[in-house]
Amino acid sequence: CAKSDGRDTWRHFEKSMGQEVRSRRMMEHELRYAIPREELSLAYQPQKKLDTGETIGFEALLRWSHPQRGNVSPAVFIPVAEESGSIVTIGEWVLERACADAASWADNITVAVNVSAVQLHSPDFTRTVHEILVRTGLAPHRLEIEITETALVRDMNRALTTLRQIKALGVKVAMDDFGTGYSSLSNLRAFPFDKIKIDGSFIRSVDTNPQAATIVKAVLGIGRGLGLPVLAEGVETSAELEFLSKELCQIGQGYLLGRPGPIDRFADQTAQNMPKVETASAA
Ligand code: C2E
Ligand code: MG
Ligand code: MG
Ligand code: MG
Repeated sequence: CAKSDGRDTWRHFEKSMGQEVRSRRMMEHELRYAIPREELSLAYQPQKKLDTGETIGFEALLRWSHPQRGNVSPAVFIPVAEESGSIVTIGEWVLERACADAASWADNITVAVNVSAVQLHSPDFTRTVHEILVRTGLAPHRLEIEITETALVRDMNRALTTLRQIKALGVKVAMDDFGTGYSSLSNLRAFPFDKIKIDGSFIRSVDTNPQAATIVKAVLGIGRGLGLPVLAEGVETSAELEFLSKELCQIGQGYLLGRPGPIDRFADQTAQNMPKVETASAA
């Protein structure tokens, strides 16, 4: 009868909820051990000037290789790490690793690091960044922190104070996923950004979709007006690239320009302006 059907449905619901909660707890637990177990690594994706094709920086993207789960997407585990608070420790690991890596690259190449809301609002964030820069010897202007709007809306005053402190160190700040949050425009005015990253969802088929094209052109106009360079995320096709170049978008990032990967794959780009020196073996 209907009543027992309802009960069965409920029982099934409770059971699957229980499983979901348990697997989330399990992931929280495993994330706490991901650093000591050396399961985390960074993939790097090049950011290129669209007029010359030159690589000017790399975005560090966190990768988690779990012995049983395999490669877990950051879209899955970052929210879990944020909720449990382990993102603070993990984020510190990412900053340290990325700054240490970048310190070994040519000194005109920057590194972009994603910083989540919990991390930005954690006590001592600025001091942590400062200490990492000192330890790794990376020049502060070569570090760029990527922040999404959701990180800002939590506590606007606190976010503004922290961003000003970060900027005072000489570190750059980029607005990530521009256009997908709310009150994007007021955030651009209120916060001291150095760069706008247009979300990939607007770049997708920008060459054929008039609405996407209008929005991208408008964002480029805002960037020009505010004197902020604009980076297009998620560039996948040459038609998209052509559109962006024609509209004078300064920087691009996406599968077409380079997929994220281990940094050794980009050895030619991280060393690009190094003077050519004869190796000892060649001498
Ligand atoms: P995001 O910061 O917006 O990074 C860009 C995402 O787009 C990356 O996904 C990248 O692999 C992907 N992508 C790059 N080019 C293309 C393209 O041409 N097409 C498509 N479809 N995708 C492209 P990923 O690595 O899976 O990271 C997802 C999100 O996870 C990031 O979005 C960022 O919000 C977060 N994340 C990654 N690493 C970290 C980290 O170290 N700390 C924090 N807090 N968040 C991170
Ligand atoms: Mg990013
Ligand atoms: Mg983004
Ligand atoms: Mg994103």
